[in-house]
Amino acid sequence: MTTTTDSEVVTYERRGPVAIVTMNRPEYRNAQNSAMTYALDAAFTRAVEDADIKVIVLAGAGEHFSAGHDIGSPGRDVSVHYENKAVMWWDHIGRDGGDQRFARESEVYLGMCRRWREIPKPTIASVQGACIAGALMLAWVCDMIVASEDAFFADPVVRMGIPGVEYFAHPWVLGPRAAKEILFTGERFSAAQAKEWGMVNRVVPRDDLESETLALAGKIAEMPSFGLALTKKAVNQAEDLMGMRSGMDSVFGLHHFAHAHNAEVSDGDSLGGQTAKSMAAQAKKE
Ligand code: ZN
Repeated sequence: MTTTTDSEVVTYERRGPVAIVTMNRPEYRNAQNSAMTYALDAAFTRAVEDADIKVIVLAGAGEHFSAGHDIGSPGRDVSVHYENKAVMWWDHIGRDGGDQRFARESEVYLGMCRRWREIPKPTIASVQGACIAGALMLAWVCDMIVASEDAFFADPVVRMGIPGVEYFAHPWVLGPRAAKEILFTGERFSAAQAKEWGMVNRVVPRDDLESETLALAGKIAEMPSFGLALTKKAVNQAEDLMGMRSGMDSVFGLHHFAHAHNAEVSDGDSLGGQTAKSMAAQAKKE
């Protein structure tokens, strides 16, 4: 049973006690626009409200999990109004400069990621191909990550003069040294490397990605829902006591300082002159 929402940018499928939520813009390597953000949120809400669903899998249709935030597809919709779901703040539409950026990114990036991290059911990211920048945020908010051997990861936004993506989990999910290495170099790292650093739970052949993810989900689904919810909260609280939440808040300020600096020195361009194309071209050179 597959159903689609919001012009099919996200699909929702039930397999017994498992909900499979799939990003569905494969022609743009599942670049995340606001339509996709709110469709993901609706799909997660549906899975949370369905008492028969025990585990949620987040996947990407096509060759790649996701290329990150949409900074250049024809469906880029930063000027479209959506009702805020993640934070109590005014809408970014009609605002200028830092006021606009802070409102928008608080809602669709940091706020949504935090909201999804707190989904009271276990979530598993099933990752193949590219998982770049904003896509790391989606994988990281999931409780576990199963990656195929061909998966690769990178956060190259330091090239924009920005200290990493908005959901700054890097030091907690990678450890400080690996976090610095991936940020300082912007280079891709493999699924095997991600596993060695403890960022990924399992690495499996591409052909087995779905079956291995579902097997893991099935095992977890045998546990009682409330026990899983409390256990998830326990680990998340421990992570926050390790400073993740407050650390992220402080870095979100640096992130916005960088956007504002870029806008100040390069004609209002908060991305420092980088585009989806230039970022992809630099990645290829590596
Ligand atoms: Zn940003």
